Amino acid sequence: MTGQPGLRRFLQPPAGASGASPASPGATPAATVPAGPGSPAAPLRGATAPGPASGQPEEICELCAVPVGPVHGHVADLERSTLACACRACYLLFTDPGAGRGRYRAVPERYLRDTSRPLDAAEWAELDVPVGLAFFLRSSRRGQVGGFYPSPAGVTECTLDLEAWARLGQAHPLLLAAEDDVEAVLVNRSDTEVECFVVPVDVCYELAGRMRLLWQGFDGGAEARQSIAEFLGSVRARARELAPEP
Ligand SMILES: [Zn+2]
Ligand SMILES: [Zn+2]
Repeated sequence: MTGQPGLRRFLQPPAGASGASPASPGATPAATVPAGPGSPAAPLRGATAPGPASGQPEEICELCAVPVGPVHGHVADLERSTLACACRACYLLFTDPGAGRGRYRAVPERYLRDTSRPLDAAEWAELDVPVGLAFFLRSSRRGQVGGFYPSPAGVTECTLDLEAWARLGQAHPLLLAAEDDVEAVLVNRSDTEVECFVVPVDVCYELAGRMRLLWQGFDGGAEARQSIAEFLGSVRARARELAPEP
């Protein structure tokens, strides 16, 4: 994906929306609680996102304030549950997974798939996700996986059978390959197959931001569907095979 100008506008902290911690596993009610990189807070909610980003000031690195181009990396701020735009130098400071428990984590740039161990439709049904396109991310602070799907609100949290998720992860290691807070598992169920990818979490936010702008009517309308199709095409083009288990 190209870095969408104004990404961060979709990531503003919510207005008092942080009480969403679900008490019972697998019973998260459907609600407009978008995925936060680091907590159940809802950074997409409350963003006004009135229109395209034209006229926005040039983006700068939010860590050191140098200007960055339209394509740049992002760093998850686990304290504020936001993504920060980062210049290359700052991005590289936070790529070491061993640096793990700090405030910032660089969002990886890898895309993975595992064509040798695809999910089938019955397995997808076990997860009890009510939509055909969803992404799943594990927050280290929340300590569990949440499922989200594109909607008029940008993204909406969906129910997810967490036990089924863990069980399927045994047979499909790709589901467990996403790094906490900064990567998501994207699942797209079509008529013919169930596609799974590990993707950077910032592209999920970009997709959510576009859905918020484009969504019309019950099913999103032609523009939103086209945008999703382009997003999936980009993910397929970038995806590399998950390395086989040693
Ligand atoms: Zn910087
Ligand atoms: Zn950015």
